[in-house]
Amino acid sequence: AGPSKPKRIKALDPDVVNKIAAGEIIVAPMHALKELIENAVDAGSTSIEVLIKDGGLKLLQITDNGHGIDVSRHLILTDMEDPTDFLKRDDLPILCERFTTSKLKEFEDLSSIGTYGFRGEALASISHIAHLTVTTKTAGSSCAWRAHYGDGKLVPAKPGQNAAPKATAGRGGTQITVEDLFYNIPTRRRAFRSASEEYAKILDVVGRYAVHCSGVAFSCRKHGDSGVSISTPSAASIVDRIRQIHGSAVANEVVEFETSDSKLGFRASGLATNANYHVKKTVILLFINHRAVESTAIKRAVEQTYSAFLPKGGHPFAYIDLEIEPHRVDVNVHPTKREVNFLNEDEIIEMVCNEIRSKLAQVDSSRTFLTQT
Ligand code: ADP
Ligand code: MG
Repeated sequence: AGPSKPKRIKALDPDVVNKIAAGEIIVAPMHALKELIENAVDAGSTSIEVLIKDGGLKLLQITDNGHGIDVSRHLILTDMEDPTDFLKRDDLPILCERFTTSKLKEFEDLSSIGTYGFRGEALASISHIAHLTVTTKTAGSSCAWRAHYGDGKLVPAKPGQNAAPKATAGRGGTQITVEDLFYNIPTRRRAFRSASEEYAKILDVVGRYAVHCSGVAFSCRKHGDSGVSISTPSAASIVDRIRQIHGSAVANEVVEFETSDSKLGFRASGLATNANYHVKKTVILLFINHRAVESTAIKRAVEQTYSAFLPKGGHPFAYIDLEIEPHRVDVNVHPTKREVNFLNEDEIIEMVCNEIRSKLAQVDSSRTFLTQT
């Protein structure tokens, strides 16, 4: 038989395209949770509670006490190419359409929309691969509103009902409920072997934000468990937060560092373990412009810095809070925004590591001094 006839090219159904795109951004429950925590923090919350069932696959619920979502006013960015194309509409109906956000105040903000990762895609993405329920109340509203979403649109709570948001009782703030994540991507769903593995990744994400967000109380609980896995009061200092989440052994041995450079457009501060402490695997809690990110370059440089201070096979713990002028940061290297690029990366990393090194040397020499006298 000869070569078969080429198949006709057809456009994919938009819902399929959206589902594929969402599946690239949200690979595991932890990625959905990270976006939801960031939204809660952006909303000025001082309390964020997380409830998880089946590693987040059955249920991911996050309750905050932030400013809520204004049901009567929201900007929709209908066309990323044309910043003048704003439409005003009610918030809740469009909340889960792509590129809708309340985080653009003026046109100029558009230059930093990508940089900050405010792209109005999180809720949209989640609604394409899960059942999403939003309950929200602003300070000015006499009641809370509840809405259900599927495939970026409002859907009825039960078939046959109407899809309009319903008035309900509720406290100020927002509760986002994500159920049956990946229900419509069976291959992805089957790839998850263990709920406890996914729960561990969720605790890692909550733990990172719980260390970083001073002034915010965090809790994380597994459905059916009486106790909480993470509980950090809002008044806790960063060292206390590290103590709660990573233990006293780490918290008792951290040194503070801080450095900045206006020409390089950055400031960095953080806490890193001294030469008295080491672990088997390096732990780095890295925040760039208040988003938890990964950086192989930073990890490698920090490990290199410690190699002179720690015994072979020993590794550090470090929390690094890096703020870089937004226009110098590119978060769009990957759809998940997990790795970022920024200008003068080598110089900035070197300055941060030099600062950590000088702190380590100070502690080390004071110890030597103590043992000598
Ligand atoms: P983005 O965060 O990039 O704006 P999202 O899809 O994550 O996009 O959220 C869309 C919009 O929904 C936000 O801009 C915000 O107005 C609103 N929103 C989402 N979560 C919350 C929350 N927890 N509290 C208040 N508003 C929220
Ligand atoms: Mg968001």
